[in-house]
Amino acid sequence: MQDVEPTQSVTNLKRSVLERVLDVVRKLGTTRDLQATLDLIAQSIVEVLDFGAAAINVTGPDGELRVAAVAGPPEVQQLLGETGELRLWLEVLDAAEPWGNLRFLSHTADQQTWQGISFWTPPIPPSPDPDSWHSEDSLLAPMWDSTGRLLGVLSVDQPASGKLPDLDQRTILELFAAQAAIAITDSAAREVSEELRRDAERRWQLAFERAPTGAAIVDSGGRVVQANDTLVGMLGYSREQLVGKRVVDITHPDDVDKNVGLFQEVLAGRSDSYEMEKRFVHADGHTVWVTLHVGVIRDESGGIRSIISQLADITDRKHAEAELARRMSHDPLTALPNRSQLEERLNYYLIRNVPAGVLFFDLDRFKTVNDSLGHEAGDELLVAVTAILTEAVPDSCLLGRIGGDEFAVILPNEMDPDEVAQQGERLMDLFAEPLLVRGHQHTVSVSVGVTVSRPEHRHADEVLREADQAMLRAKRHGRARVEVFDPTQDKPATLDDLKLEQALRVSLNENRGLMPYFQPIINLSDSTIAGYEALIRWLHPEQGLLEPDQFLPLAEKTGLIVPIGWWMLEASSRAIIRRDFSDDGNRWVAVNVSGSQLGRGLLVPNIARVLTESGLPAAQLHVEITETALIEASTAAIDEVRAVADLGVEVALDDFGTGYSSLTLLRDLPVSIVKIDRSFIAPIGVDRSATAIVRRVIALCQELGVVTVAEGVETQSQLTALRALGCTQAQGYLIGPPEPLAASGIAQLGHRRSSA
Ligand code: C2E
Ligand code: CA
Ligand code: CA
Repeated sequence: MQDVEPTQSVTNLKRSVLERVLDVVRKLGTTRDLQATLDLIAQSIVEVLDFGAAAINVTGPDGELRVAAVAGPPEVQQLLGETGELRLWLEVLDAAEPWGNLRFLSHTADQQTWQGISFWTPPIPPSPDPDSWHSEDSLLAPMWDSTGRLLGVLSVDQPASGKLPDLDQRTILELFAAQAAIAITDSAAREVSEELRRDAERRWQLAFERAPTGAAIVDSGGRVVQANDTLVGMLGYSREQLVGKRVVDITHPDDVDKNVGLFQEVLAGRSDSYEMEKRFVHADGHTVWVTLHVGVIRDESGGIRSIISQLADITDRKHAEAELARRMSHDPLTALPNRSQLEERLNYYLIRNVPAGVLFFDLDRFKTVNDSLGHEAGDELLVAVTAILTEAVPDSCLLGRIGGDEFAVILPNEMDPDEVAQQGERLMDLFAEPLLVRGHQHTVSVSVGVTVSRPEHRHADEVLREADQAMLRAKRHGRARVEVFDPTQDKPATLDDLKLEQALRVSLNENRGLMPYFQPIINLSDSTIAGYEALIRWLHPEQGLLEPDQFLPLAEKTGLIVPIGWWMLEASSRAIIRRDFSDDGNRWVAVNVSGSQLGRGLLVPNIARVLTESGLPAAQLHVEITETALIEASTAAIDEVRAVADLGVEVALDDFGTGYSSLTLLRDLPVSIVKIDRSFIAPIGVDRSATAIVRRVIALCQELGVVTVAEGVETQSQLTALRALGCTQAQGYLIGPPEPLAASGIAQLGHRRSSA
């Protein structure tokens, strides 16, 4: 057989080598393991290409080439793992002679360059033939990446022919080197992406576990797969109990349908996320309100990879909102329904043509109790009166507090005023016995007005007003009596009203008697004055100085409030600019704007004109609009207010807490200041739920970047409490009453300036 081989055709032999090479290449294509690939390449060089030895050196991250794979005699095996500096390898490659892509370093060349690199020299006897392989010859296949960086070097030694390698061998050698280079690059890329993936996973795990919001991964069956600590704390189940539970099983029954509906949308691929406010049932049975955000991560083909739920606990906010709503419809002192509740009930009857009677109660001489014994005694008396009335009023009727010392009872299915009046007498008689308040006996009497609704009434307000007017007549006629509304005696507009209206028109037209008073508002952080609120006063030609509540209701009713409002805007701006205080901090003046001034297209031009004419910078003008006015405003009116804000004038929401707005509505209004109504400030520090509401309002405002002003601060303890709650500013008698310009702090400022 030995004899046959040389006679075999060269092409046959070549084909079989090529076939074997192809086999190797195919095999290489199936493995993704770098070491196995390099081993196979080194092995094939020895077995298929007939070299005595082969070594593959791979560049490491620290600039060294390491022998990663070898094939050949045992001495070569010992090289495995040896390292050499990249710099030395580059020198060797430089010194070598380029053979195409290969490098040949002949034994005739300077072998110095090999120093520092471990290599193997085969034991070959020297031969005079210039074509024979010499033991110190080296054939190298450098592997470069696309950026010219050396990936490694493949080196071979001792061809079985004993001759220098021929073109075929060299070509195949290049091919193997290229395969090794691809394997090295691939593996490096895989390592990087694997590292990135692991990194992202670690980060996600951390974010998931430590998130301050609850988080869960759920499967497409709606079962919890993973839950973080916050969620465990929020829902009260242990992690083990949560995992595997269906979300619907811990959802409040009323929210299941809505939640399932949204979840189905995601499963069906119609949406990738949804958000909802929903309730969960805590392990101990109580309700947990959350904002739930569900997001789905899809794979390339649109299938669901994972579903991630994030939950923020909003139970506190929901409670505060519910309490606020309760307070808005209930009077905080007596817990009775307030005026709007009474009107609502009455309107309900009006719409359904159910006749209803109204009893309007007013305590006689209540002011004396307040003034002589103090507000707290007054409050106690009101609570005692409430208790008596509550006990006596039948369940079918609605008892409520209109405000102050006024109460009302609505009696359904009553059309005879005299019968209603009898009920009134009966209730009045309950006060025959003196009441005990703070150890004192008090004789209480009430004046009662009576009316019944009729088809011509369009609004509850009209019915209540009639009962009110009848009550006033009861007072005029000596108190402690019941009077039935009589249109001939109880005129809607009294003569006094007409006279007052006439006098107000004259004052306005002649620009006489009306004037702004100024009340300081301080920054709670450092007690410096932030600005002033302008409050109207009227020096009546005969009655002397009148407060707003003595003439503004009439002005509102007659529409005079509109010109009065513009007059105040101008007068306050002028008065303030005359006492230029701009160098003393950016103080501003806040002017009240009535709801009647909105929606007429006049707000923006009038403000712009006043700013130009007075020279007051826009930033030094604030307008105050009550919560009620803004809520009732049309969208056009809201747009006007927004345009005012765009002028640079700040808009304050006045008397916040007395309207029906929810805390969340704040976000949608163009206001940068919220003035918390006096009725919430008064009980601060005493009534915990009132304090909680104020805390909540302040927190929300802080979140929205809205300044909070506490109104009606009268005591040091209120001031201290408000500071602790993070309220921005405060206004009230404690800080300073409304005063005419000459007497107010503004005058002193002007003085300080001129003397400086
Ligand atoms: P407001 O806008 O809530 O003004 C604050 C009211 O609270 C002022 O009553 C002020 O004197 C009073 N006040 C200030 N500090 C305290 C305090 O510590 N305790 C108490 N109990 N009250 C305090 P004022 O001046 O009688 O004004 C009553 C209301 O009349 C104002 O309430 C505002 O709604 C309206 N008003 C006043 N001037 C104007 C105006 O020029 N235009 C319009 N549209 N309304 C005005
Ligand atoms: Ca105000
Ligand atoms: Ca106010």
